Amino acid sequence: APPKDAGYFELKAPHTVPTTTPQSKSATGLLPRGPAVPLELRVQNLLARLDSQATDLDRYCLLHNILETDATLYFATVLADVPRVMPLVYTPTVGAACQNFSKIHTYQPKGIYLSKYDKGNVADVLRNWPFKDDTKVICVTDGERILGLGDLGANGMGIPVGKLALYTGLGGIEPEATLPIHIDFGCNVDAVRDDPLYMGLKEKRPDKDNAAEVAEYDAFMEEFFAAVKEVFGESCMVQFEDFGNSNAFRFLENFQDKHVCFNDDIQGTASVVLAGVMSSLRITSNVPGGAKSLKDHTFVFLGAGEAGCGIASLIAEAIVMEEGVSMSEACANIWLVDSRGLVTDRRDMATLPHHKKPFAHSLEDGGDVSTLEEAVKKLKPSCVIGVSGQPQTFTKSIVEEMSANHPRPLVFALSNPTSKAECTAEQAYEWSDGQAVFASGSPFPPVQFKGKTYQPAQGNNAYIFPGVGLGAIFCGATRLDSEDMITASKALADLVPQDKIDKGACYPALAEAREVSIQIAAAVACGQWKRGTGGKNRAGEGEETREQLVERIRGSMYEPEKVWREGL
Ligand code: NAP
Ligand code: MN
Repeated sequence: APPKDAGYFELKAPHTVPTTTPQSKSATGLLPRGPAVPLELRVQNLLARLDSQATDLDRYCLLHNILETDATLYFATVLADVPRVMPLVYTPTVGAACQNFSKIHTYQPKGIYLSKYDKGNVADVLRNWPFKDDTKVICVTDGERILGLGDLGANGMGIPVGKLALYTGLGGIEPEATLPIHIDFGCNVDAVRDDPLYMGLKEKRPDKDNAAEVAEYDAFMEEFFAAVKEVFGESCMVQFEDFGNSNAFRFLENFQDKHVCFNDDIQGTASVVLAGVMSSLRITSNVPGGAKSLKDHTFVFLGAGEAGCGIASLIAEAIVMEEGVSMSEACANIWLVDSRGLVTDRRDMATLPHHKKPFAHSLEDGGDVSTLEEAVKKLKPSCVIGVSGQPQTFTKSIVEEMSANHPRPLVFALSNPTSKAECTAEQAYEWSDGQAVFASGSPFPPVQFKGKTYQPAQGNNAYIFPGVGLGAIFCGATRLDSEDMITASKALADLVPQDKIDKGACYPALAEAREVSIQIAAAVACGQWKRGTGGKNRAGEGEETREQLVERIRGSMYEPEKVWREGL
C-alpha cells in the first residue's frame, strides 16, 4: 500500500467514479422525441463548433467530452476531416492537453492507472476495466518522456488516449477494443508533482543508477505482461509509448520475444521515417548525383535516443534486407550526433549505450566533432534527421551546405511538438532554394516560395501504428519484429502518389491515412503468414488475391456510420 502519511486516498471497491447521473431502466424520454438527426449533420455541426472555439486546447476539450459521451460522433468527426481533427486529438495539441491534464481532467475513467503500489494485484486492477472482454490493443506509458516535453508523470495519460483514438479512427479497431494504461512510478519534475491539482503519485521515479530500484520496476513490468496475458489473452497487443530512454530500450528487449508488443517511439518512428526515405528515392534518383538506393545516402542524425537509434538501425536492417549489403557496410554511412557531439569510436565503449555502438565509426583524421554544423561539413550528408527535441538546430548554414553538396537533400525535422522542430518548413525551402525534401514531426502549413506552393510532408507515426496493429490483430500475431516494420515502411512508401512526389513530399495526404492503414495491415498480415506466424484469418494457398484480402480487412473494420445505422 502507499505510505499512509503521503495523503493518498484509498478507493473503496468497487472502484466507482462519482457521477451525478443515476442509471435508469430505459432511455426512452431522456432525449427529444423527434426523428433521428443524420450523423453527417451532427458531424458538420461539431466541426463548426470546433471552428468557433478560441484555442486548440478548447477544441481538444470539446472533442474529448464528445469521446466520453458519444464515441460514434467523435470517430465520425475524426474521419470526416482527418487533417483538421487529427492535430487536435494528437500532436501537436495533445502536448498542450498533457501539460494541462490535471486542469482539464473530467474525473471520467480514460483507461487504467496502475501504480507501483499495485504490485501483486496488477491483474485485479486490469479486471476493473469495463471492456475487459473486448480488449485487443493496449497503449501504455509511464509519462517520463512525453513528446519532446519531458517528464509529465500521470499527466502523460493523454498520450495513450490520443494514440488509441487513432487506432480506432485510422486503424478501424473498435473503441471497446482499445485500452490506455498509465503506469505510475512517480515523476521527477518538481513543478508537475507540486501542482496541487496533480493526480499522480507525489514521488520521484526509481533512481536509474540504483540496481535495486531498477529491478523493482523490471519486476513490476514482468507482472504487468503476465497480467495482460491472463486478463486479455495471448494476442492482446501492447504498444509502449513515451517511456524514458533507458527504460524504453530495456523493456522492449525484455518483452519483444515473449509478447506481441512494440515501442512506437523506437520502431513506429523508425518505420515511418524509413518509408519517407524510401519514397523520396523516387525524387532523388531522378536527378544527377542523387541517391538511387538507400545505401547511396549518407545519414547524419541529430539525436541518438529512442527515435534516432531506432530509425538508424531500421534503415541499416532495410539496407541489408533490400540491397544485399552486410550489416557493417550498411551502418558505415549512418552517423549519430548526440548531446556530446558526433558519436565516434573515440567514445568510451564501456559506457556507450549499446544501441549507439553500431554507428560509432572512426573518423579519418581521428579528432572529435562537437557540433552538427561541423559534422555536416565533414561528412557531407545527403539526409539529416532531427530527433533531439532541440529547436532551431538545423541552421541556415547547415541546409545551405547540404544543398551545395546534394541536388535534393533530405531534411527531416522531426522533433515534436511544433515548437521543438529543428527548423520550419519555410526555412528548409528558403535555405535550399526550394530543393529540400522536407518532412516534420508536427504539421506545417503549405509554403509559398518563389511563386511555387510546397506541401511539407508530416512523418507522422499515425501512418504506421494503426495499420500494424490492425494487421497484427487480424492475423493473430503473437510477436512483432523489425521485418514487420520494414514491411509497413514499404507499403507506406508505395502509397505516396506521384503528384505528391512531384511536389517534393514523401508521404501521402493525411486524409488517406485510413486507406494507408488497410494496405499496411494487409502487408503485415501477409508477411506474418509467410513466416508461418499469425494463426488467424489466413485464406488457403492461392485462394485470395491481395485485393480480396484488402476487402476482407476493410469489412472487419469499425465504421462509425455503420454503428450509427445499426443503432437506429
Ligand atoms: P530521447 O530518447 O530522449 O533522445 C533524445 C536524444 O537527443 C538523445 O540522444 C540526446 O543525447 C539527444 N540530445 C539532447 N540534447 C541534445 C543537443 N543539445 N544536441 C544534440 N543532441 C541532443 O528522445 P526520443 O524518443 O528519441 O525523441 C526525441 C525527439 O524526437 C522528440 O522531440 C520527439 O517528439 C521526436 N519524435 C518524433 C517522431 C516523429 O516525428 N514521427 C517520432 C518520435 C519522436 P544523449 O544521448 O547524449 O542524451
Ligand atoms: Mn511517442
